Amino acid sequence: MAKPLVALLTGAGVSTDSGIPDYRGPKGLWRRDPEAEKLVTYEYYMGDPEIRRRSWRMRWETGVLGAEPNAAHRAVAELERSGVPVRVITQNVDGLHQLAGMPARKVYELHGTAREFVCTACHVRGPMEEALARVEAGEADPPCVRCGGILKPATVMFGERLDPVVLGEAAAVAKACQVFVAAGTRLQVQPAAGLAGVAADHGARLIVVNAEPTPYDDLADEVVRDPIGTALPALLRALAAG
Ligand code: ZN
Repeated sequence: MAKPLVALLTGAGVSTDSGIPDYRGPKGLWRRDPEAEKLVTYEYYMGDPEIRRRSWRMRWETGVLGAEPNAAHRAVAELERSGVPVRVITQNVDGLHQLAGMPARKVYELHGTAREFVCTACHVRGPMEEALARVEAGEADPPCVRCGGILKPATVMFGERLDPVVLGEAAAVAKACQVFVAAGTRLQVQPAAGLAGVAADHGARLIVVNAEPTPYDDLADEVVRDPIGTALPALLRALAAG
């Protein structure tokens, strides 16, 4: 018998053990600090060179690129390596699922990635290290080397739409999977949260792993409140064992 397709929707809680704070959740850092939120709001970013200079400096100083995958990321990659078909839909931009060993083509990054930059004019992309090296070398707001356009991180800023292609692929996964695990997300930000409902509507077993209650707990077949770093590996080992 074919192994069931396992989909995971992962949020900020999955990366907390890697030292990455919750930036964009309802109680996240961005929402609590309006000045910081401007740094990741498209309209301000595009309209104000000073906001861009501060945004690049903040990225260079915080060193998110140095973060390492934790036990939860490794457990997801191990499940995939064990032969179970796995797809990851993530609200995180840290790229830690891929660093832990998940094949990039099986990870759908709803909010883009902080590991790359993109030109807002010609849409060329490149590694974030390259842009940050230019910031370190003294270019406070490095322009696109190809067209001179404004560069930004390849993340979805406030005021930007989610990539409809990525969202469509994520919805297809939610419809097709037999098990849908929502981990480290409060399931309050749409349309990501709605994927849990889509999966349940299409017959998937819904499992919520989150320290705090979510609006989908009543719909879930199983709710786990234990810390992600131990709860998710235990859950995924059980799934692998069938
Ligand atoms: Zn360009």
